[in-house]
Amino acid sequence: MNPNDPAGGSTFRPDALAPLVDQPVVHSTSSDKIRLSILATALVDALGGPVEFHKRGTFPFTTSFIPNTNFSRYGVLAPGTWTDDSSMALCLARSIARYGFDEGRQLEAYWKWFAEGEMSAIGKCFDIGGTTFTALDLYDQEKGRGQPTPAILQHLRDALSAPRNGGNGSLMRVLPVGLAYWRDVENAKVYAKRSSETTHPAPLPTETCEVWTAIIATIMQNAVVPEGSGEAPTASAQRYSKLDLLDFISKYPYNNEDLHKHLTVPVSAPPPQFIHDADKYTQEVYYWHHHPILRLISKTASQQSNRQKPHYTARQRFAFYSGMEDSE
Ligand SMILES: [Mg+2]
Repeated sequence: MNPNDPAGGSTFRPDALAPLVDQPVVHSTSSDKIRLSILATALVDALGGPVEFHKRGTFPFTTSFIPNTNFSRYGVLAPGTWTDDSSMALCLARSIARYGFDEGRQLEAYWKWFAEGEMSAIGKCFDIGGTTFTALDLYDQEKGRGQPTPAILQHLRDALSAPRNGGNGSLMRVLPVGLAYWRDVENAKVYAKRSSETTHPAPLPTETCEVWTAIIATIMQNAVVPEGSGEAPTASAQRYSKLDLLDFISKYPYNNEDLHKHLTVPVSAPPPQFIHDADKYTQEVYYWHHHPILRLISKTASQQSNRQKPHYTARQRFAFYSGMEDSE
């Protein structure tokens, strides 16, 4: 097999993607990692926001910020507008930075986003998930009755622990927990679960938050260098790569059957021929053929090969900004 072509000549790895093993973590200080991770969250949220609620494969490949027409009550949102994911992550990040880990403070921050638009890109909340709304409404009622935070949290767990409340509303905002508590992965996972339970106490979201936080903490442990030390002199080949990350995800001891099914190699796949890190390219080929995430990426990429032109031309974008009628 050609080591420069880890897909082994197959069509599994999309041509546009570099091999995962050749995508190492970038070393940086923790403060840079934290700032850039939050910035990247808002960036990809704003990039993907306009195609939210659209079925995979039914829209053109998104490569730039475009207007968001999903929330018509609030008009067309300008290109680059981040959504609830980033707003709630910012609320959580600021709460942790100011008060440490405190669920009562986190709920209050989310409430202020919902009621007053704090941390919204447009100064008001324009999109809130059903479970998050139910939780914040309950929080407001209980707080109005003078209930202490532990009693409110218990009430939220009682009301929202059923599987039908297992949405992704806590996962989309949990990033700051891993960024703040990465030095101790087990402790970070406990905080991730508790963070989810403020609005999403069902088993699927709590475990997913634990897993995602463990991933973030693992990346931070392999990426962070002390302040002022600059780039660490680690050889590129020894760096933690996206392939290592996929290996971590694939071998995680999931409790939830759905997570296990979607994030590990199925038992029907042939056993991996690799044992250790000696041949990472072989390992990558195996994953491109058998791991559900990479198979989904392959499938999506092949659908995109037939993609249409982007929704918005430069002229349409100009018309949006200037308020002109588009004659096209
Ligand atoms: Mg959103």
